[in-house]
Amino acid sequence: MPDQVPVFVPATGIHTVKAVVDALDLGWLGMGATTQLFERRIGEYLGAVGRPVLATNTGTSALHLALLVAGVQPGDEVIVASFNYVADLQAITAIGAEPVFCDIREDNLGFDVDRVAEMIGPRTKAILPLHFAGIPCDIAGIYELARAHNLRVIEDATHAFGTSINGTKIGAEGDLVCFSFDPVKVITAIDGGAVVCNSAEELDRLQHFRFLGVDKDTAERYKNQRSWEYDVVSQGFRYHLTNINASIGLSQLDRVDGFIASRRQTCREYNAAFRELDGIAVPQTDFDEVSPFIYFVRVPSDERLTFIDFLRARGVQTGIHFLPAHTFTYYRDRRRGPLPVTEKVASEIVTLPLHSHMPTALSNQVIEAVREFARTRRPVGARSRP
Ligand SMILES: *Cc1c(COP(=O)(O)O)cnc(C)c1O
Repeated sequence: MPDQVPVFVPATGIHTVKAVVDALDLGWLGMGATTQLFERRIGEYLGAVGRPVLATNTGTSALHLALLVAGVQPGDEVIVASFNYVADLQAITAIGAEPVFCDIREDNLGFDVDRVAEMIGPRTKAILPLHFAGIPCDIAGIYELARAHNLRVIEDATHAFGTSINGTKIGAEGDLVCFSFDPVKVITAIDGGAVVCNSAEELDRLQHFRFLGVDKDTAERYKNQRSWEYDVVSQGFRYHLTNINASIGLSQLDRVDGFIASRRQTCREYNAAFRELDGIAVPQTDFDEVSPFIYFVRVPSDERLTFIDFLRARGVQTGIHFLPAHTFTYYRDRRRGPLPVTEKVASEIVTLPLHSHMPTALSNQVIEAVREFARTRRPVGARSRP
C-alpha cells in the first residue's frame, strides 16, 4: 500500500516550538497578556472595528458563551442546520435551549433562508448559520430575516476564518461570530476559539462567563497578575485561553495569509481536475474570497463506500463532514422541518485531503486516485439505482 495522505496535517513547525518556549519563558502560564494580544490581533486581522474579540479555550465554548450573551434561555429555540458538527448542538442544549433543525441549499451547503423563515415560531430566540467548509452561506438573507423577527444571529464561522464577502471578512460585521482554532482548523492554537461581539458591555459579560463569573479579574490577568479581591457577578465557566495557546495562535496568525493562499491554490487545482469527471460533483465556488477549511466532493450515495475504499487503496484518506445531527440518538426527537437536501448531501459528501502548503506530490496523488475512480466507474445504465 502506498503512503497514506491524511485528510488533515497541522501547519506546525519550529515556529510553534519557539512560540511555546517564549510563552514558558514568560513564566505566566495561564490566561494573560498574550491572550489579550491574540484577541487584539484577531480583531485587527478581521477588520472588526468597534467589535471586541473574546478568546476561548475551544470553538465549542465560544458558541456556548455567544448563545448565553445573546440571552438564549432554557426553553428557547435556536434554528440550526442538521448538516453541522455536534458541537453546535451541544452548545445549545447545554443552556437547556432547543435546537430546531432546518434544511440547507445545494449550492453553498448553508442555510436555505426560505426554509429558516418557515421554522420561526413563538419560542425562537436565535438563528445559528454555518459557513460550511469556509464557503459563505446567504448571510445577508439571514440578517434580513433576523431583523424582521427580532432574533439574534450567532454565526458559526469555525470553518471560515479569513473568508471575505465582497471584500469584508466574516466577523468584521454582523452580530455574534464564533471561530475555532482547534488542531485541524485553518489556524490552530492547539485548541482555542473566539467570539466577536458588538460592544464593550457584551465583552464584559462574556469575560464573566468565561472566567467563573469573577469580576475585575480579567483586567489583572491581562497584566500577568492576579486580583486577590473580587466579586462573583454571574454564572461562569473556565473557558479561558492560556498564554501558551495564545502564543501558538499568534505564531499561526503571522502565517495565515500563506496558509490560505496555498489552500485556495490546491482547491482550484482539485476543482479544475474534477469538474468534468463523470459522477463527481465539486464545490460551487472559484475560492476567490474563500478561506478553505476542507475540500469536499459529492458522489452518488450508492457509490460512496466504493469511492472511499478505492481512494484508501491508493493511499488517500477521506473524511465525512457531516453525519446529520437529526439522526443521532440525543437529537432525533427534536423539532425539525423537512430535510431533503440535508439527507441527500449527507449521503453523498466526501472530504478529501487539504493541507496548508500541501506538497504537489500529495495533491497529485489525490487527483490521480479520483481520476482513476471516475475512469473505472461502470456506465450509467449498468449502475444500481438507490
Ligand atoms: C470545529 C468546529 C466547531 C467547534 O470547535 P472546537 O474548537 O473543535 O470546539 C463547531 N462547529 C463546527 C462546524 C466545527 O467544525
